[in-house]
Amino acid sequence: MNSFNINNIIRPNVKAMKAYSSARDEFQEINDDFVFLDANENPFNNGLNRYPDPLQRNVKSILSKIKNFPANQILLGNGSDEVLDLIFRAFCEPNQDNVIAISPSYGMYGVLANLNAIEYRKSLLNEENFQPNIEDIFSKVDDNTKMIFLCSPNNPTGEIIKRDSILGIVNRFNGLVIIDEAYIDFAMEPSWINEIKNYPNVIVTQTLSKAVGLAGIRLGILYASQEIIDVLIKIKPPYNINQLTQLKAIEILGNYDKVVDETNTIIEQKDFLEQALAEISFVEKIYPSDANFILIKVDNANERYNQLIEKGIVIRNRNNDDLCENCLRITVGTEDENGKLVEALNSLKY
Ligand SMILES: *Cc1c(COP(=O)(O)O)cnc(C)c1O
Repeated sequence: MNSFNINNIIRPNVKAMKAYSSARDEFQEINDDFVFLDANENPFNNGLNRYPDPLQRNVKSILSKIKNFPANQILLGNGSDEVLDLIFRAFCEPNQDNVIAISPSYGMYGVLANLNAIEYRKSLLNEENFQPNIEDIFSKVDDNTKMIFLCSPNNPTGEIIKRDSILGIVNRFNGLVIIDEAYIDFAMEPSWINEIKNYPNVIVTQTLSKAVGLAGIRLGILYASQEIIDVLIKIKPPYNINQLTQLKAIEILGNYDKVVDETNTIIEQKDFLEQALAEISFVEKIYPSDANFILIKVDNANERYNQLIEKGIVIRNRNNDDLCENCLRITVGTEDENGKLVEALNSLKY
């Protein structure tokens, strides 16, 4: 078992500081009968003249029911990017600490590490199955390693990280293990949020940008122990989730059956696309996907990418990612969009 202790990893300045106390923090019970003269707002009602709830209690309460997870162990951010940035700022000392991430994976971890002056150590996935190389990861851990980033299902490879691999890291590492589950709704495996009660060094992030269909409102979600959430709430910008975002999230999450239907349709369409891609002569490999995208290896990724652009179809060229030579990443679209892609690919056959 590891010797994780949250008090050993909070930055000293964060431990010592006091949070900004906003007007809406000091007066919590929002009741329409009160006269609010505390926040220097314009009093004329236009639906958005008041500051939003800094703790987003209505959004968290719906999420809590959907995910069957305690509302007070949820932190919301302006996209996943904000919650990821907050954990760097809470736990990693600039110019001293380091983090480790699997590679290839989501580019923002490295960008946030650079921004926060934290050394970023990459550990290549095993080439044959795109699973983490546990021994390689631990060969890179030292006393200043605060966090290990895992992305499951992983972007851009598409596959879930096996439970045993994650357990092997979580049990052995004394710092935080961040599991980015942006694509978990498309996977058959359960979320790690159910394990947080057993493994206090696990932080899980999710987002409304993918399966839920709300990339435009920017809402990222972080699930963790109460102790971790308390630290992050202390340092987050007071009104980081605007009122329009909160209202739209409540509306869409309130009709979750529709989200589930759309997710199932996307999964069906992924099966269709996989079958159609298998018929294309220059597609050399189709990697298994637990997400809403498919990674394929082709004869010449740069050329195929440009040919598709000429036909008005935009996919992602991952040729420059580790282990992804000549790989393209294709997001699963609607039936119509996927049909157009397949038609375009067929027209490229030599
Ligand atoms: C798309 C994606 C996100 C989502 O980021 P948001 O800022 O919430 O839109 C997070 N992680 C991964 C791995 C992604 O691919």
